[in-house]
Amino acid sequence: MRNKSLILITICAALSTGLSAQSIYPGQHTGKMKKMTTAPMQVESFDLKDVRLLPSRFRDNMMRDSIWMTSIATNRLLHSFRNNAGVFAGREGGYMTVKKLGGWESLDCELRGHTTGHLLSAYALMYASTGSEIFKLKGDSLVTGLAEVQAALGNGYLSAYPEELINRNIRGTSVWAPWYTLHKLFSGLIDQYLYTDNKQALEVVTRMGDWAYNKLKPLDEATRKRMIQNEFGGVNESFYNLYAITGDERYQWLAEFFYHNDVIDPLKEQRDDLGTKHTNTFIPKVLAEARNYELTQDNGSRKLTDFFWHTMIDHHTFAPGCSSDKEHYFDPQQLSKHLTGYTGETCCTYNMLKLSRHLFCWTGDAKVADYYERALYNHILGQQDPETGMVSYFLPLLSGSHKVYSTQENSFWCCVGSGFESHAKYGEAIYYHNDQGIYVNLFIPSEVNWRAKGITLHQETSFPAEENTALTIQTDKPVTTTIYLRYPSWSKNVKVNVNGKKVSVKQKPGSYIAVTRQWKDGDRIEANYPMNLQLETTPDNPQKGTLLYGPLVLAGEAGTEGMQAPAPFSDPALYNDYYTYNYHIPAELNTTLQINRKHPEHSLQRTGKELIFKASQGNVLKPLYDLHHQRYVIYWDLIEK
Ligand SMILES: [Zn+2]
Repeated sequence: MRNKSLILITICAALSTGLSAQSIYPGQHTGKMKKMTTAPMQVESFDLKDVRLLPSRFRDNMMRDSIWMTSIATNRLLHSFRNNAGVFAGREGGYMTVKKLGGWESLDCELRGHTTGHLLSAYALMYASTGSEIFKLKGDSLVTGLAEVQAALGNGYLSAYPEELINRNIRGTSVWAPWYTLHKLFSGLIDQYLYTDNKQALEVVTRMGDWAYNKLKPLDEATRKRMIQNEFGGVNESFYNLYAITGDERYQWLAEFFYHNDVIDPLKEQRDDLGTKHTNTFIPKVLAEARNYELTQDNGSRKLTDFFWHTMIDHHTFAPGCSSDKEHYFDPQQLSKHLTGYTGETCCTYNMLKLSRHLFCWTGDAKVADYYERALYNHILGQQDPETGMVSYFLPLLSGSHKVYSTQENSFWCCVGSGFESHAKYGEAIYYHNDQGIYVNLFIPSEVNWRAKGITLHQETSFPAEENTALTIQTDKPVTTTIYLRYPSWSKNVKVNVNGKKVSVKQKPGSYIAVTRQWKDGDRIEANYPMNLQLETTPDNPQKGTLLYGPLVLAGEAGTEGMQAPAPFSDPALYNDYYTYNYHIPAELNTTLQINRKHPEHSLQRTGKELIFKASQGNVLKPLYDLHHQRYVIYWDLIEK
């Protein structure tokens, strides 16, 4: 019996999900908030619709994402909902007419419907990022269908599974994660309202909020504490956001209902009590605290968020910016023993980037921007297979492993859902602004329309293949303001020119270079960020290390020997195979690298204009984001040269 329950616990943990769905950042959607951010902010976000990506790898990812998300028929995304309510459109109720979604969207999966929520967010984000009407139409048709289902269910409840799953959670009997799944819907409907102005979406989500209030208000404290042991994603963040939009304090009460004392209280005491907890159940609870601080100025929430972020980045994060082994925390003093085939759940990085966007608004701290860049390039950008647009669940760090991609029809994991969103919103953290000026945080080809100042900033760059970026100002009339150029911690001796004239740079790496002047139409800033090779070893084993070039983790190509079809894709015939994946790593795989620790540039030569490096013993290394469809080595067994 004991063994059996252990297995059950393991399976439950394995199937525990990642949270995602969009957030609201200070400065965004200002006309739509009854409760504004009152906490003091260093900088504010731009609305996503004010930033456009120009051709680049990021834009390529976005386009592939857009093709996949538009290819999924609306009636397929609504089918499980209609099935739950017993209402069907046309002949949909006949078993011949709708091709059912597989994987985590199967009709017998307790998380069904979560992808519909993610896509409500992703269509909204893609509409804001591109302005293309197709995404508005896709979102509108989903919302209309969901409103019909909600009306049929009768009491405001809306889901692809019966309310009995919520009752099981309240009773404390076994159920996967019903509030986690509802969170996707709450968040997706809120995003449809905020990004596409779909008022029906707001009506549907407030009815859902009313249902939740009526359902949870009568419960006693013991019941509350028991039910929130189960993963609930970021549903409390959504309730804070619904409170901000409507001003209705019942939704604030709901957000506070999900305050998880056992998890948040230690953070309030500045204690790292993460132990072996499920990483991505944890992060969204802190995101809710971040929103609480922004709306109420509760300094306790701010302090614990700040402590948690630094604890994560300083102790629980691998070189590519990802965290977790088999989805859980582990002793950071044993990091080198956790370089497994199951590290780096992508939803965790997705959520850490969300938390970073909040923290950056509060602090304007260059360290936050440094982390953001590292995780964005090394994890999120490389999550998507450039050949098929499919995405990976983990970022495995085991030497000789490879990325394992989803399938188009039979995966729909949490990381597929958060992936739909991630690749739709690259524009949201490139620039920030405040009364003094505009911050250029990322070197991604793009254009930002700073409406309040009447300025457009146009950024051209081939970074990271080249070390330069150029910004051109477009304005009808001269404007005096400051442009804050990020000075990344990985660079030194940065050179800046304005209209061809050198600007003296006194700042140090890990800060911002402020250029204040009266800007005229056509003014041009050019910045050069020298990139260097650096070795980063694990905290517990100086013989294990990874190489970085600027912010980029380099990985060694290790070929395809021993890979068995359908690798590198997940096998739909197996149950969540990413979690127990057998990589069939060849025994003779070389994982060693001869390196001059002080001067890694003596051991590695960049070849040509591409970011390809050759080690003296013959290994070929390139950016991890660029390694697909083959094995790789990220953390090497180092041999002193
Ligand atoms: Zn996930």
